[in-house]
Parts: sequence; structure tokens; C-alpha cells
Amino acid sequence: MRIGILGGTFNPIHYGHLRSAEEVYKELMLDEIRFVPSALPPHKPKDEVASADDRLKMVRIAVENYPTYVCDPVEVERGGASYTLDTLKELTRKIPDKNDMFFIIGADAFLELSTWHKPKEVLNATNFAVTLRGNQNTPEYFEMLLRVIQEIEPSYFINRFLKEVKSTDKKRVIKFIPITEVDISATRIRQRIKESSSIQHLLPREVELFIIRRRLYGHSGAVR
Ligand code: ATP
Repeated sequence: MRIGILGGTFNPIHYGHLRSAEEVYKELMLDEIRFVPSALPPHKPKDEVASADDRLKMVRIAVENYPTYVCDPVEVERGGASYTLDTLKELTRKIPDKNDMFFIIGADAFLELSTWHKPKEVLNATNFAVTLRGNQNTPEYFEMLLRVIQEIEPSYFINRFLKEVKSTDKKRVIKFIPITEVDISATRIRQRIKESSSIQHLLPREVELFIIRRRLYGHSGAVR
């Protein structure tokens, strides 16, 4: 099994997430994508962050009709701060051949890697698929991403032509994958709900109806 792990707040899940999952799935010839919604600190305002349970349900609803997409509650069930390293360790326990696991992450999030909990261990825990969209797919941006890796693991071997980086023992690979720009963010969706603007076609209809029914993010509950 070749598995892609797509972690996120999914507050809410939208077509940007689903499209990027699809493109990585095809490019890396994966068998399955696991969406892993994070647990969140409880002190955030309710109209900003939906509960872990609601975000989990929205991901479940969104992936329901795709046989190769699964929702994994590992972080929500663990609760507390969602450290990627703990999640990867837990998932690799479940999936025996960790060389066939890819952690999918947007280039913007990857740039922050050095601020994560134990970045060196995270980088060594699994393979990475770093997605590049729009203006992230430039040589300058790529060099910035490579600097992040070099600061954490100077011995990693960079192949600019193949757009990949390999660990010294060649067991781990970091692949950079240009994807179609889908200019949707969860922040913008929440903002639109606040402004009573339509969010149709930015996310699956079933997820939209869930948001309306549960009046998430301050939604008025009116169906259009
Ligand atoms: P927010 O706007 O609340 O910060 P978000 O829409 O960026 O949320 P996250 O749940 O934080 O979504 O993102 C999870 C992962 O999906 C990250 O790796 C992020 O880079 C990626 N991602 C988010 N939006 C898109 C998009 N439109 N296209 C491709 N990847 C995306």
C-alpha cells in the first residue's frame, strides 16, 4: 500500500484540499489518501474554529463518496496539541512499510517546518510530498524550501532536476509536486459566511449543508 497522509485543521474542508489530494494521488500513484483533522486547543472562539468533532464529521462527509479517500480520527481521538511527529509514529505503527507513506503538505506550511516540534525527527519519520501551487512553483520559492531542509538536515541530497531530496541512506524522499492552483482557503470560506455571502461550489454541497444545519462559523441557517 502506498498511502498519502493529508493533515490539516479542515476548518472546514474544501475543494482546495480535495483537488490537491487528487493530484498527489495521481502523481505518486498512491493507493489511498488519509485525511487527518487536527485536534485543537479549546480556547479558540467558537465562530472561528468548529469543534474537533464537527471538523471530523465534515471530512467524513467530504470523503464518503471516494473509495480511495479515508478520514482518520487519530489526532482528534488523541486530543490535546496535535504534534505531527506523534501522528506519524502512530500511523507508521499501523502501516508496516513506512517507506510507502507520504506526508502531504503545502509549500507554505513546509516553510514553517523548523518551528515545529522536533523538526529533524519529523523529517526522518516518513517521506514528504510538498505541493507547489501558483507562485510557489518558481525557482526562487524552491530554493527557499531547500534552505529549510538544509538547515534541518544538511546531509540530504538535493536533485533540482527531479525536484526531489533524498536522505543520505536513500530511505526517505521529499518530493515537490506542482499542483493546479485552486484559490480557496478555509479562512476565506469562514469570512464569506460572516458576510452572509454564498459559499456554494467552494466545498462539497453536503459539507455546506452540514455547516448550515449546525450553524457553524456564525451561519444564519438559511438554505439557498
Ligand atoms: P486556513 O485558511 O484556516 O488556514 P486552509 O484552507 O489553509 O485553512 P488547512 O486545514 O490549514 O487549510 O490546510 C491543510 C493542508 O492543505 C495544508 O498543507 C495546506 O497547505 C493545504 N491547503 C489548504 N488550502 C489549499 C488549497 N487551496 N490548495 C492546495 N492545498 C491547500
